[in-house]
Amino acid sequence: MPELPEVETIARGLANAVVGKTIDFVTVLRPKVVFPEPQRFEREIAGDRIGGVGRRGKFVVLSLASGRQLVVHLRMTGRLIVQAAGTTSPEPYTNVLVGFRDGMRLCFADVRQFGRMRLAEPEEPWAAGVGLEPLSDEFSFERFSGLLDGRATPIKVFLLDQRRIAGIGNIYACEALWDARIRPTRPAGSISKQARRRLHHSIQDVLRRAIEMRGTSVDDYVDAEGLRGGFQNQLSVYSRHGQNCLRCKRPIVRTVLAQRGTWWCRTCQRT
Ligand SMILES: [Zn+2]
Repeated sequence: MPELPEVETIARGLANAVVGKTIDFVTVLRPKVVFPEPQRFEREIAGDRIGGVGRRGKFVVLSLASGRQLVVHLRMTGRLIVQAAGTTSPEPYTNVLVGFRDGMRLCFADVRQFGRMRLAEPEEPWAAGVGLEPLSDEFSFERFSGLLDGRATPIKVFLLDQRRIAGIGNIYACEALWDARIRPTRPAGSISKQARRRLHHSIQDVLRRAIEMRGTSVDDYVDAEGLRGGFQNQLSVYSRHGQNCLRCKRPIVRTVLAQRGTWWCRTCQRT
């Protein structure tokens, strides 16, 4: 599933490609992936212009000139792919096709069809339940530490909770905990102040480094131009079961925590 660095990379690529373009038509090929219902969705968006593209948590947000927003969640296998003018066939598994006046097209493709595209009205609080942005100024050490206080949830499970901190998924939760040398099962509220400081730093550091590498392609993730990321070559623990820990040279283990595979080092993640 695309996490913060992958969604950020997609949003930046899209911004370069579609900002300023006017939407000529929208065709919904899979009604269940859009909101509101397809006819209205198609009618409302046609004629509007893309004012900007950003990210909130794991959502790609296309701001329209009308003040409304097209909010996209890619879920497991969703992709947003830009096609040059003159391309005749949409990407395989395209669920929504957006055509621009200049002939360029945007395909929202998704093999598994869990991804969603929603038209939000200007004042609609669609992101009200979404947690802190870990790379923003609001994610101070004090705010982060305050979120952990009193929580018995294992820290790995806590980090995946989008209502607390937005954008961290399985890959970057595993990587940040390894970097901060914290055991994934450790109850969040019991982590020492010193270790909290390390984790706060590790979360930001891992996410920034992954964005620099244009995300991690361990599955079928590609950005808006169809390019794979590069951070899979720099992973320290994620999917490295049985390989040596880069720090202590002992084998990385894989355990399951809240139904999610969790990769970590028993020797150096002892905090
Ligand atoms: Zn180790």
